[in-house]
Amino acid sequence: MTVHIHPSVDNGVKQGSGHFTGGTLVCKCQDRPVKVGVRGDVLHNHACGCSKCWKPDGATFAVIAVVPRDNVSVLENGDKLHIVDASATIQRHACKVCGTHMYGRIENKDHAFYGLDFIHPELFQEGGSAAPGFAAFVSSVIETGVDPSEMDGIRARLKELGLEPYDCLSPGLMDALAAHVSKSRAKAA
Ligand SMILES: [Zn+2]
Ligand SMILES: [Zn+2]
Repeated sequence: MTVHIHPSVDNGVKQGSGHFTGGTLVCKCQDRPVKVGVRGDVLHNHACGCSKCWKPDGATFAVIAVVPRDNVSVLENGDKLHIVDASATIQRHACKVCGTHMYGRIENKDHAFYGLDFIHPELFQEGGSAAPGFAAFVSSVIETGVDPSEMDGIRARLKELGLEPYDCLSPGLMDALAAHVSKSRAKAA
């Protein structure tokens, strides 16, 4: 049985050029596509199994990375964007017509990841951005319809691709979240 993770990694993870200076994210619309400019390379690129991240048709995982929010700007057809769920921690700005998520933004200044926008590097019209390095929220794909019996195969495939599977975020990002909690507690004391 073939295990599908995401079209951009199913034939092997393509490594980044190491000197990606930015590019343009383009939605799936043929007519008046939304274009979002990103300066610089992406950080913490990973496959994500959560139910909130946007994925293309047929993908089990999303591929998502972060960039400093000041590096993100809407270039064209921003009138087609809307916020998917204004009450969510990450406000996902998506194209109203094709549904593609263009960038997710955290407006809560107290959040550990405030200042970072979440983007889908597969939408870059240019190649060479940093490759995904791990898989997050792997068990959560069960919530979106994957049969639990498929999980061994999915984890094995992720490992084979070099995307270490975690059922939360990677240790580095979990440490960053915990450090933020610890710091805000010290401030409150
Ligand atoms: Zn669109
Ligand atoms: Zn996610």
